[in-house]
Amino acid sequence: MSQNPVFIPGPTNMPDAIRKACDMATLDHRSSAFADIFGPAVAGVKQVLKTTKAEIVIFPASGTGGWEAAISNTLSPGDKVLAARHGMFSHRWIDLCQRHGLDVQIIEAPWGAGCPVDQYLQVLTADKTHEIKAVLATHNETATGVRSDIAGIRKAIDAAGHPALFLVDGVSSIGSMDFRMDEWGVDVAVTGSQKGFMLPAGLAIVGVSPKALAASASATLHRTFFDFRDMLKSYASGGYPYTPAVGLLNGLKLATDMLLDEGLDAVFARHHRIAEGVRRAVFAWGMRPCAQSPDLYSDTVTAILTPEGFNATDIVTHAADRYDVAFGVGLGEVAGKVFRIGHLGAMTDVMALSGIATAEMAMADLGLPVQLGSGVAAAQDYYRHGTGAAALAAE
Ligand SMILES: *Cc1c(COP(=O)(O)O)cnc(C)c1O
Repeated sequence: MSQNPVFIPGPTNMPDAIRKACDMATLDHRSSAFADIFGPAVAGVKQVLKTTKAEIVIFPASGTGGWEAAISNTLSPGDKVLAARHGMFSHRWIDLCQRHGLDVQIIEAPWGAGCPVDQYLQVLTADKTHEIKAVLATHNETATGVRSDIAGIRKAIDAAGHPALFLVDGVSSIGSMDFRMDEWGVDVAVTGSQKGFMLPAGLAIVGVSPKALAASASATLHRTFFDFRDMLKSYASGGYPYTPAVGLLNGLKLATDMLLDEGLDAVFARHHRIAEGVRRAVFAWGMRPCAQSPDLYSDTVTAILTPEGFNATDIVTHAADRYDVAFGVGLGEVAGKVFRIGHLGAMTDVMALSGIATAEMAMADLGLPVQLGSGVAAAQDYYRHGTGAAALAAE
């Protein structure tokens, strides 16, 4: 039986070549054969993160493990950190910090808004005694389909002359949307294997700046499994402090090759084009994205507000039951109010059209006033007029 693509914002569709690369015979992770996999995988991740300065640490965990590693290696109990809550993922990271005994100063923002850069600036400027040890931001809020201005937050930290570490969740952006670890002065960048890298879940991929590494020498939150220093010490002798997920790392080596062969700019342009087609479909349905303004639109996931009084989750349930296609449900504050179309990773215009068409069928089945073919036509019209960066630039 054929398999439909998934339209959830992770785990994403896997190219066959990547699935095959993950399926390998057992090999000794203390042998040079492992180093031949791991070295290129790390080098590839550095290029995707646009860093030459950071160390890359890869744990056998999901993205959540990367969050935990980011804070437990750099902070001490009672430390103050600054974070915005504007969706389920930023909320969960705050919860993780609180459960580790950190004092989180939370900026509440509407779900659908981005990280409020001006409020970060205000708070950091007012913090004359530098109580705040780390600034947290979620680059792409997967729950609402909102991309935040990470460069802008860096500018706010610098404008305030603040020495805090800058920790960024890039789980649903890295490898699909531009991310500039060095240029943006990101101290810890967190991602996972099952989103932009098109792999199964199972790797927490973390970029660590020299400043974050220095902080790990004095940070006293407990960590063992997630200790950057243990990891880097073992890397220096070509290995891991424990057993690595060798097959996934072999997949990661291929995934970074594939992204770099396509060219990062082309990858970002493809994601933008596919996303724009999806958004045009949404407007053609008479609906709108949860993201409050076009500058916030995510190129990896679109959360779509459905009419008042309608349970958006029904679309997801029905599409799964009737058409065997997976969309994302609304989470937290927007549960029942939005459904999400994930359009990141191994995605093409044609795949996106099938998702848009399926969403239309599901909505029509459920009695929503959606004209069959309206969204598909809007996306077709956009996709027909070119592919890649050249076409985008010409618009
Ligand atoms: C998926 C996701 C996570 C959590 O990652 P897991 O791999 O599920 O632990 C964290 N942040 C964002 C923005 C995500 O999209």
